[in-house]
Amino acid sequence: MKRIDAHVHLFGPDPWADELARSVGHENTEEHVVQQMEQLDIVHAVVMGNQDPTPQAYRFGPQFSYCVGLDGAQIQRLGPGKVPAMVEEHLRRPACCGIKLYPGYAPHYISDPLYEPYYELAEQYGKPVAVHTGQTQGPNAKLKYCHPLTLDDVAADHPYVQFVMCHFGNPFLADAAAVLEKNPNMAAEISGLLCGYENLDDYFIGKREYINMLRGWLGYGDYWDRLIFGTDWPGVNMENYLGFIQRLIPEQYDQQVFFDNANRIYRLGL
Ligand SMILES: [Zn+2]
Repeated sequence: MKRIDAHVHLFGPDPWADELARSVGHENTEEHVVQQMEQLDIVHAVVMGNQDPTPQAYRFGPQFSYCVGLDGAQIQRLGPGKVPAMVEEHLRRPACCGIKLYPGYAPHYISDPLYEPYYELAEQYGKPVAVHTGQTQGPNAKLKYCHPLTLDDVAADHPYVQFVMCHFGNPFLADAAAVLEKNPNMAAEISGLLCGYENLDDYFIGKREYINMLRGWLGYGDYWDRLIFGTDWPGVNMENYLGFIQRLIPEQYDQQVFFDNANRIYRLGL
């Protein structure tokens, strides 16, 4: 079946990213990702941005769309008055399918007024706002800013903006499920639920209780039409992670979770 990976990072040449990719059996190049995608019937991927929103940024091949990435510290560094116009220039491009916010990595709740202009732009252009939620990379980030419950405020205050909760708030699963169930303008994506490369047979035995909770909360509400597959490459091995999610999702929802929901929510037109 055709699939969409709705959460990858393309870092460009960088010793840290090179090592991260190698640690999961990959190479940190766009060509390598495309090759992996082809092998796994992943026809398109959404890049979650990690660069400043300059006009030159975010040039990828046709297999990719992207969410222009922002966090509060970056907005302050670039100038809160200047960044909305930069982001708008991206939103005008067909390849830009949304905005990605990184609360937690900077100390601002997503209800902070700093982010307000981006919700207005998202509504105006009809493109979603994806938000990092749950566990962070490294101890310097602050979890209270990226707890899934914080998304309830903005979803309620901006009913015409489509939000995407990245990583299903993991491991704050019950809170994520409550926010998703309550807000019709909230979708959730299930990337990055494990890190690195795992022997799945061992993982599903060793982490049995966690897997049961994950299955329970994914199936808790009537929101299979709002759950989106993504990997979080290069943090995970793509094939290994696809196998992991395939074990979690009941087969009758594969078409929605692996393709239809991302295609509709990010308006990819595939
Ligand atoms: Zn990510």
